[in-house]
Amino acid sequence: MISIVVVSHSLKLAVGILELAAQMTHGKIKLVCAAGVDDPENPIGTDSVAILEAIESVYSEDGVLVFVDIGSAILSTDMALELLDAEKVKNVHVTAAPIVEGTISASVAAAAGLSLNEVIDESHLALPSKQKQVAEKNREESVVLDFKTTEIIPNRNTVSVTTEVKNPHGIHARPASAIVSAVASFDAVITLKNGNNEVNAKSINSIALLGAKKGDRVVCSASGNEAAAAIKAFELLASNNFNEDIGQSKEPLINDDGNGYLNRGWGGESKNIDGCIKGVPASKGIAIAPISLFQTTMPKPSHRKSLGIEFERTTFLKAKEKAIEGLKLLAAKTVKEGATNQAEIFNAHIQMLDDPFLDNQISDLLNSDIDIETAWEIVVTRTAKAYADSSSDYMQERANDILDIGKRIMLLLLDIDEVKIEYSTPIILVADDLTPSDTAQLDPSFVKGLILAKGGHTSHSAILARSLGIPAIVGVNGTKSLVNGDIVIMDGITGSIMLNPAKEDIDGYRIQIEADESEKRQAIQLAKQAASTIDEQSIDIYANVATLKDVDDALSGGAEGIGLLRSEFLFMDRSEMPSEESQFEFYSEVASAFNGQPVIIRTLDIGGDKPLSYLQQTEEDNPFLGSRGIRLCLNNKMVFETQLKALLRATAKNSNIEIMFPMIATFEELKEAKSLLNDCHRDLVAKEVASKIPKVGIMIELPSAVVIADQLAKEADFFSIGTNDLTQYVMAADRGNEAVSYLVSGAQPAVLKMISMTAEAARKASIRVGICGELAGDDRFTETFVGLGIDELSMSPIRIAEVKQTIRKLSKKDATNKAQQILELNSLSEVIKVL
Ligand code: PEP
Ligand code: MG
Repeated sequence: MISIVVVSHSLKLAVGILELAAQMTHGKIKLVCAAGVDDPENPIGTDSVAILEAIESVYSEDGVLVFVDIGSAILSTDMALELLDAEKVKNVHVTAAPIVEGTISASVAAAAGLSLNEVIDESHLALPSKQKQVAEKNREESVVLDFKTTEIIPNRNTVSVTTEVKNPHGIHARPASAIVSAVASFDAVITLKNGNNEVNAKSINSIALLGAKKGDRVVCSASGNEAAAAIKAFELLASNNFNEDIGQSKEPLINDDGNGYLNRGWGGESKNIDGCIKGVPASKGIAIAPISLFQTTMPKPSHRKSLGIEFERTTFLKAKEKAIEGLKLLAAKTVKEGATNQAEIFNAHIQMLDDPFLDNQISDLLNSDIDIETAWEIVVTRTAKAYADSSSDYMQERANDILDIGKRIMLLLLDIDEVKIEYSTPIILVADDLTPSDTAQLDPSFVKGLILAKGGHTSHSAILARSLGIPAIVGVNGTKSLVNGDIVIMDGITGSIMLNPAKEDIDGYRIQIEADESEKRQAIQLAKQAASTIDEQSIDIYANVATLKDVDDALSGGAEGIGLLRSEFLFMDRSEMPSEESQFEFYSEVASAFNGQPVIIRTLDIGGDKPLSYLQQTEEDNPFLGSRGIRLCLNNKMVFETQLKALLRATAKNSNIEIMFPMIATFEELKEAKSLLNDCHRDLVAKEVASKIPKVGIMIELPSAVVIADQLAKEADFFSIGTNDLTQYVMAADRGNEAVSYLVSGAQPAVLKMISMTAEAARKASIRVGICGELAGDDRFTETFVGLGIDELSMSPIRIAEVKQTIRKLSKKDATNKAQQILELNSLSEVIKVL
């Protein structure tokens, strides 16, 4: 995709232009500026080295378009091109188009995927287009346009659609940009007609000439190979008011990040208006509190003399070992707080630290007689820059992870205590960015909200803020205008931040907060009571647990049973397999704590992202598609049988135990696992050891299991849908890869259909069906699940009170209708709107 560079004498001017262009293109293209000079006294000027760096930072063979303001900006750009590799120069074009209008038009055209020449044409059309529009208003001026809009050739195979413009300001720049993005890639000639005026729908400048106002009826016509598809895309966009919030609904056109939060895209809504700043909403909730500005950086080394390669290397290895220990503790703490998936962030940091890529670079630097702190600073800065310069948003956000581990090691190397983020009064924390370790330290009883200048909805700080329940807004332009101690109101749903609000605003929002809190209090008070809909359909609410501490949380949080005991946690973080006896004791202890209420213990679900150090596992190219879950157990019979025997013995003691096999893909796997269970039972009986066969269910987390659910139901006592894995396998999108997180969403129609098919198969076979993936605790889905006939929802203990309260307000009848309506929807955004 084509990138844009803005060269200006003024940094403020260039940043403003880029902000506008980024807003129109939703961060789809790379936009950078080289503007001003690094002299606080006299910041106006241009610098050819900075221009060269800017071009290189966004360079691709698709092309780079450079906009310049005046005079020496042109000269400096010429010099920069002289310094640039000759091969690259061929793909860099300096345009004479006007810097503001041209940059905006070109950015929209580039984001729509047009070629370099087309983008250049669009940038040149910007000024005449504006002249025409202004001239139309001031009739005495007359401007002769020296460009042609699309040549419109009447065609018998033309497809058309008419739409009434509902947008209050008509089809202005933003809707126009949405139209170009929606239709530009279709192989068709597409036009828009308003009255007698007909223009090219792939040109933002031409659309601006339409002058379409609210209430106008605009005809979109297309001819060519993909005419029908283009019209469909236009129709969809028009039905969504060209992606503009026109005041009827608060929801923009959105993606779901798979963690139950809505994504408007980077900077998509970032704007400053009348004492109100907007950013990307990242964690829901309202907060009113004074601001506390926070800065986190990697400490600077003293650049001392090297004390010898051996010494420096040992110092590094010791620091690394200590850092890994710290990260393991942090991961364990995060798991205990109920955020199992989020703990993966810290496990990923361990992997990053262990990466030979960092090690090799350190060794090279130490060999050049550099001390370890300086070497570490160089390696971290270099690696973080490489990530930050990447074209992928996902990779860019990983720069912060590198800086996080960079800081962690540097503190150890310099023997400095970590600056604790501790508060004793309520505040809203404002920072440029927070590392995951910083975020994990936040205490929600004092940190009422989080505002970050950087980060997207998939950044780890955003994910952690959600898991801590702290309202958060990220990607906020304008945090620099926030002052320590100033009161702000932030709304984590709309992404708006109100600066120094009036008393009546504070009062209004306080009422809202109190209502939310009183609702929460009421939910907590009722948490231990069963939850039924108003028409008396009861839904069992169980907990997902891994440790005995979780079991306590589940009991105090109101769980009516355990829907998923992830037994693999007993097997992890140890050097040898737990014995049959220790497993028996653990399962018995959990089951007796639940005193007759169901305790569903899932057999070992290892493999994929959960390796065991003491189990021989061959390296696999695609571990998530390899030997994991039941496959691994059936190939490691000794491990599996030990667990099955412990479970059979525990069931003899506690008849509330049920077992569940993970990752079942075929009927044969289920039969084989059950037959092993029977063999183990026979073995124990022969040895006169008390043993009882529990109910046997399976997890439905693979598409194949959904498809043969009717057959599996003949052998299973119950189903439990693992929406985490089901989503990743249905959508073929790694659940840990944020680059595809928009696919990893329970609101994807394909996922909801799979859940519905499973529920239907269970209903026909008269067996129970539950959900134990993360989605079970997401109250946006509760009504749909009730409507689909799910009998039981199993979730992190902290979600129980809220989900029960949601159930109490539903009617099964309405829920059934709603579920049916949702199943007919075609797209993620439609589902999210209806949920
Ligand atoms: C699931 O896949 O939804 C599930 C509950 O299992 P896990 O997250 O442990 O893989
Ligand atoms: Mg799973």
